[in-house]
Amino acid sequence: MTPALEHLQQLLKQLPGLGYRSAERVALHLLLEKPERLPQLVTALQEAASTVRRCDRCGNLAEEPWCAVCQEDNRDHGIVCVVEQVSDLVALERSGAYRGGYHVLHGIVVTDSWCRTQRVESGRAESPY
Ligand SMILES: [Zn+2]
Repeated sequence: MTPALEHLQQLLKQLPGLGYRSAERVALHLLLEKPERLPQLVTALQEAASTVRRCDRCGNLAEEPWCAVCQEDNRDHGIVCVVEQVSDLVALERSGAYRGGYHVLHGIVVTDSWCRTQRVESGRAESPY
């Protein structure tokens, strides 16, 4: 293993869902089997890093002050669905069952009163009542 490969593997290992072996597999795949994809990947990462931000209104990902959801006029923005992560918003949008606005917490906010009355698991609140 070279120092550059080891550095790449260490960075990949920090990504969600990638352990040591998976990071090694991805690094070797990119370097040995698909080296022509590396410049595209680097460009995509740089572009995303410089353009993607949080929506000023709801916290979703956006490339403008407001995300695509918040820019839709035919939604009921008077109804707000609070979700834990952007991935939860994406899942709801994919279902097509919800046509309101969102508020993305970017993690669970737990307060004392919340702890006493509800249990939070995977973005779902379960009331004990
Ligand atoms: Zn938004």
